[in-house]
Amino acid sequence: MIHLSKSIYGAMIAHAKAGFPNEACGILGGDLKKRITSKFFPMRNLDESSISYFMDPKEQLLVLKKMREMGIEMTGIFHSHVASEAAPSQKDVRLAFYPDVSYLIVSLSDINKPILRSFKIKDEKIIEEEIEIV
Ligand SMILES: [Zn+2]
Repeated sequence: MIHLSKSIYGAMIAHAKAGFPNEACGILGGDLKKRITSKFFPMRNLDESSISYFMDPKEQLLVLKKMREMGIEMTGIFHSHVASEAAPSQKDVRLAFYPDVSYLIVSLSDINKPILRSFKIKDEKIIEEEIEIV
């Protein structure tokens, strides 16, 4: 289960729509043990592609530094799918290096009805988790 505030949920959807028709991505931060996600960092998609994303490693380092300063850690990795369902692609699974964080995917295949789902990916196994918006 991952808890998201309405404002974080809104920020993720807005970022995904702003990046459309390309995939958008971002990083979520908070307290992993307490399962609290308190911050969303929109990231650039260096791929500028509608079928993949690649975070700017420099931007990623800055965000990780900022999170350390704020006393929070990475709780999730977010990206959008613009034409396919909100489920990890084979590439998403292959590139899922953090077994403890949530992988959140929003599908914009109907841009007026974004569908957000969340997954844990461990040893290439996908486990969907519930999202609670509070
Ligand atoms: Zn994907």
